[in-house]
Amino acid sequence: MTWHNWAGTASADPARRYWPRSTEEIANAIKEAAGSGLTVRALGGGHSFTPAAATSGAALDLSGWTGIVGADLSSGLITARSGTTIRELNRALDSLGLAMPNLGDIDAQTISGAISTGTHGTGAALGGIATQVAALELVLADGSVVSCSAEQRPDLFNAARVSVGALGVISTVTLQCVPAFALAAHEAPMHVDQVLERFDEFAAGNDHFEFYWFPYGTNALLKQNNRTGAVGGAGIPSPMPGWRRFLEYEVMENAAFGALCRTGRAVPRLIKPLNRLASATLSTRRYSAPSHEVFVTPRRVRFVESEYAVPRESIHEVLAQLRAGVPRLAHPVMFPVEIRVAAADDIWLSTAYGRDSAYVAIHQYTGLPYEEYFRLFESIAIAVGGRPHWGKMHTRDAAYLATAYPRFDDFLRIRDEMDPDRRFANPYLEQVFGP
Ligand SMILES: Cc1cc2nc3c(=O)[nH]c(=O)nc-3n(C[C@H](O)[C@H](O)[C@H](O)COP(=O)(O)OP(=O)(O)OC[C@H]3O[C@@H](n4cnc5c(N)ncnc54)[C@H](O)[C@@H]3O)c2cc1C
Repeated sequence: MTWHNWAGTASADPARRYWPRSTEEIANAIKEAAGSGLTVRALGGGHSFTPAAATSGAALDLSGWTGIVGADLSSGLITARSGTTIRELNRALDSLGLAMPNLGDIDAQTISGAISTGTHGTGAALGGIATQVAALELVLADGSVVSCSAEQRPDLFNAARVSVGALGVISTVTLQCVPAFALAAHEAPMHVDQVLERFDEFAAGNDHFEFYWFPYGTNALLKQNNRTGAVGGAGIPSPMPGWRRFLEYEVMENAAFGALCRTGRAVPRLIKPLNRLASATLSTRRYSAPSHEVFVTPRRVRFVESEYAVPRESIHEVLAQLRAGVPRLAHPVMFPVEIRVAAADDIWLSTAYGRDSAYVAIHQYTGLPYEEYFRLFESIAIAVGGRPHWGKMHTRDAAYLATAYPRFDDFLRIRDEMDPDRRFANPYLEQVFGP
């Protein structure tokens, strides 16, 4: 059966599939595949736009290897099986009175797929999901099982938290969680020039700040989410009623926006006016909700995406170039650009390694031409030393990435130690890490 990713940008026909339900079964699958001379890839939720999980060898489907196996409520440390989705994790954490300190836009990814590609949310003082990892258990190419943390095999830990599945199959992930918290959400339109003028103020003044900019409109949608006490408590915005949430997120952001996109795909000359219309009709929302309900929104309109992390201070240069270049593209752009922030971290292949970062994500509606747009964006991002998201479309190779990541050679050394025969290879890993 052919495997496809969410966006339809990658597919593969694995020679063999395994559905392991224990660490031992993961190890046995790797050993059996090795005995047949097959390479091995773990499948997450298929939400990478890059062919990171694609394999013609053995695919390990971890959808039966889910759930929490240990929780220490006093420290907030919880251990989850690697196939657990973030949605399942959020539900389980809720029932324990815990939460992840920061999350991305969706919850359909597995926790191991998310950390392996450096998945992140936004927050100038916060890191991506991999920074929340306290320990990992990995099954290596020879079927042996190793654990790592900041104290136990620290080099392996620094390499394995973001490793695109190159070192082994993660069997469990231990996460440092925090007591459950609510967020007060404030979403409002603002002229994009004004957002950029006040960028540093917004980044410093909010726990989670991001904005969406429609390339042909003048308005950005500014999102400021801040930690607060109880949902709907005194002085805190009320929770959003279920009907309004449905109207705002399902009808407006998915059904109506999907209809606009289909119209634009059918009649491309309408894309620019539709994009301006979407920008002009942005409205204000204020509400409070448990943190994961604010972080995560449904994404039912399919798109392709590229994203680069750039040094925070270069955001103005990057957006100025993009704003100048987009109107000159042969094919117009339907989707907004998303801008987020993250704090510097110490994970060797984290896109925010060693520098406070801004993330710029560009999208195009599925079925519309995107190549020229993505090429333009990539040329702008690499001119400021940008690092591509490991799970989003880019054309960078190992030679470029070695210049972008100070610890790249250390990562390759650990890869040589952990997987000398390249049991976990695939064409994408060959592109980004070399043979
Ligand atoms: C609609 C949408 C919204 C998104 N929003 C965001 C966002 O807000 N922020 C962001 O940063 N990214 C975002 N992404 C990208 C997404 O988070 C990443 O691509 C993530 O890797 C997807 O996780 P997955 O479980 O689907 O993994 P997959 O795409 O299936 O796999 C990713 C990689 O992880 C490896 N892997 C999976 N499981 C294991 C394991 N157990 N052991 C070792 N390796 C493993 C795979 O082999 C592969 O190399 C979004 C993607 C989509 C489609």
